[in-house]
Amino acid sequence: MTVNLLGLDAQALAAFMAEIGEKPFRAKQLMRWVHRFGESNFTEMSDLAQTLREKLARAAVVAAAPVISDGVSEDGTRKWLLDVGNGNAVETVFIPEASRGTLCVSTQAGCTLACEFCSTGRQGFNRNLTVAEIVGQLWMANRELGAMPGGAQGDRQGINGRGACGDRVVSNVVLMGMGEPLLNFDNLIPALRVMLDDNAYGLSRRRVTVSTSGILPLIDRLREACPVALAVSLHAPNDTLRDRLMPINRKYPLRELLAACVRYLDRAPRDFITFEYVMLSGVNDGEQQAMELIALLADVPSKINLIPFNPFPGTEFRCSPRAVIRRFSDSLNAAGIVTTTRKTRGDDIDAACGQLAGQVRDRTGRAIRMEKVA
Ligand code: SAH
Ligand code: SF4
Repeated sequence: MTVNLLGLDAQALAAFMAEIGEKPFRAKQLMRWVHRFGESNFTEMSDLAQTLREKLARAAVVAAAPVISDGVSEDGTRKWLLDVGNGNAVETVFIPEASRGTLCVSTQAGCTLACEFCSTGRQGFNRNLTVAEIVGQLWMANRELGAMPGGAQGDRQGINGRGACGDRVVSNVVLMGMGEPLLNFDNLIPALRVMLDDNAYGLSRRRVTVSTSGILPLIDRLREACPVALAVSLHAPNDTLRDRLMPINRKYPLRELLAACVRYLDRAPRDFITFEYVMLSGVNDGEQQAMELIALLADVPSKINLIPFNPFPGTEFRCSPRAVIRRFSDSLNAAGIVTTTRKTRGDDIDAACGQLAGQVRDRTGRAIRMEKVA
């Protein structure tokens, strides 16, 4: 059986090299070819021995999920729809900004958690993405964006340390696409390790953010295994409302969630937790709720990111008016909580948060139940 090298972190790649009778240190060289130079053709890996290249061609592949469609928004946001087999598709979105380029990566085909305001959640769930499918999104994006110094446009001499590695277009990764990253924990961790590996993408822990709806025990496990930046989807200042918007809150209520956030901070690469708060008109955007939120976060070093709600077909929610978002933001800022409002990007190509529809063969039956209700 051939092994997809995109699915192997440094340790697994060294083990694979040993299995095919090679010295484990060759893994570093191979890792650079695959991730830093985006090379998938073993015959091109010029500083590997001919015999090794032949062995690799027999035993391994470097293959990301095929691109079904590729769209660029007026604001430069780019969205790829990827075929992950069996009628399932997931999305990857690149958001260029003046000082950074952020790639929003999916971790599951669908999501089991069924948040009311999320298009992915309403589609149901099919399966976890593999490590290769998660890392493959970054690998593919770097290639597509022409960011590989060893790619068609680049200077491959960098591989021997003689040339510069070049600037990467993707400077930040957020695991905020389809799915709940922490519920795909066993694949998430090796994927994060590849993103951080100096021989691969070399991203710092601050530049990789896991966004979670708040799966408590797994926040603690992430803290142990690979404490990258953490964003927590809050969306409500009390349990009554959060129970309604995010069913997971019934299992892991706010007080316990915030305690886990505080525990996370002692290993986190930043000294605050980012809380995401989607602005739903007349639901969670009132002055009273701003006050409740301020009180709730009094003992948690936080930043808040307000996300204007992105509507999708069949939703009963509306986005809060701009003035309401501003008032909410002003109240939080006045209380000393640094609050930013996310710009809606890529909505003309349905690439905005929560619009990642993909295509999911629902195994939970949720999509069918939703249709009956609608
Ligand atoms: N499952 C993870 C990560 C994926 S969702 C999580 O929930 O955090 C990424 C972010 O988009 C979350 O903060 C989510 O609440 C938000 N989101 C979901 N649907 C949205 C919508 N329709 N409009 C705006 N943001 C949305
Ligand atoms: Fe899943 Fe996140 Fe959407 Fe909730 S908001 S359904 S956790 S993807």
